[in-house]
Amino acid sequence: MANASTSLKVLSVASEMFPLIKTGGLADVVGALPSALAPLDVEVRTLLPGYPAVMAALQDAIEVCHWPRWFGGPARLLAARHESLRLLVLDAPHLYARAGNPYLGPSGHDWPDNAERFAALALAGAHIGWGAVEAFIPDVIHVHDWQAALVPADLHFLGAGKRRPATVLTVHNLAFQGQFDADILDRLGLPDDAFTSDALEFFGDVGYLKSGILLADAITTVSPTYAHEIRTPANGMGMDAMLRWRGSAVSGIVNGIDTDIWNAATDALLEQTYDASSLTQRATNKRAIEVRFALPRDDSLLVCMITRLTTQKGIDLVIDAVDDLVESGARLVVLGSGDAPFEQALIAAATRWPDRVGVRIGYDEGLSHLMQGGCDAILIPSRFEPCGLTQLYGLRYGCVPIVSRVGGLADTVIDANDAALKAGVATGIQFADVTVDGVRDAVGRAVALFSIRETWQRLQTAGMQADVSWRSSAIEFAALYRRLVLATSGRG
Ligand code: ADP
Repeated sequence: MANASTSLKVLSVASEMFPLIKTGGLADVVGALPSALAPLDVEVRTLLPGYPAVMAALQDAIEVCHWPRWFGGPARLLAARHESLRLLVLDAPHLYARAGNPYLGPSGHDWPDNAERFAALALAGAHIGWGAVEAFIPDVIHVHDWQAALVPADLHFLGAGKRRPATVLTVHNLAFQGQFDADILDRLGLPDDAFTSDALEFFGDVGYLKSGILLADAITTVSPTYAHEIRTPANGMGMDAMLRWRGSAVSGIVNGIDTDIWNAATDALLEQTYDASSLTQRATNKRAIEVRFALPRDDSLLVCMITRLTTQKGIDLVIDAVDDLVESGARLVVLGSGDAPFEQALIAAATRWPDRVGVRIGYDEGLSHLMQGGCDAILIPSRFEPCGLTQLYGLRYGCVPIVSRVGGLADTVIDANDAALKAGVATGIQFADVTVDGVRDAVGRAVALFSIRETWQRLQTAGMQADVSWRSSAIEFAALYRRLVLATSGRG
């Protein structure tokens, strides 16, 4: 097993990974970590479910394991790559060969067998931990969110006499806990004694994330402030006591972004590339956004949102504030999809304000880049936000973030208060009052600051200089992995 100075092997287990399959920020993080960790002598391979989009993207796939009976059908493990990403893929057509969203069926409801689908993924991860893939025997298994969170339980309850890699669970969003009826227990391949309050049992159900929180060697979440928030009853979503009980095993490591993909100087998805010394070039992108959203040409503050349309993201506050925002002089363009009533209310707002509000319902990676590269500001009024990535893209692209002071938003944006403005370190606008009034006041501040061109440009350039890369967070992850390996070596 690796020691503090040698190279480390880390198996990352996740349900999505950019650019293969993405529904949110989890995919970006899982996609970016391997190359961020490589210079630190940490070799990452990522275990993913073999969804159609993943299978179609595999290069040089070879079968490394075959399991004739795996949660209701045959499965095989493929070692493959996609460009520079090294992958292990669980090809189990009865579980994953379905079109569309990884988690939801065509009706918009969870696939009825999600418990088995992700238990199957986790158990494959545990087998890799025990040495199933001779060419890659991991020192650490890093599991992401509830979909991978059964790995520590599998290692614990099924691993007697086997090698035991260290485990890290990263909680990207505590709202998604993977809680299932207890009658699935006999389909998970785990013994009955796993169903206790110090392992899988959670209020009479089976709790995937819960078991990971109790059994992983370390738990990280995606910003220090969120790590603090989830240990409080107000924000712990029923898990705060457990998280407090885990003590120093819980920490917050802020997400970075892939600064090669998100580079305004080279981004082919922009109408016009630019850098901090050529900010006026952003106007070409602003014009292109106006065309895409059928808004007339105008130089007033153009605020965007790129988001899931859910109450977490505060979209209901924006819907209620939209008339005031427009009347204060701002324009709004929204790219997103989510809860149908919010989609309809946004379309109604765009109909009411055809010259000031534009809405695109759907998911469009290319348009999201253009919006960051041409809008003046990005509004993120989340009620809670584990880290948030769109404010980081905004900082990097000179699209000034207007954010609620929660979670990772609090940790990554420096509010344009007088002191920060004078010191030249302000990078955005924060507001503490996550209400309709709070949103309106924050956008009002943005309108006022935008009217002083020099001040706005200082906000933009300070943001563009902020380090939003993975570098320092990758160092923290590598140090955590090495600490765990040292602490757990010799442990069976
Ligand atoms: P979350 O993971 O909670 O949805 P994050 O801010 O952490 O929120 O990450 C969201 C990611 O998904 C970002 O990369 C963002 O650009 C992207 N995204 C969200 N909605 C859309 C959309 N409709 N079109 C394109 N990209 C989107």
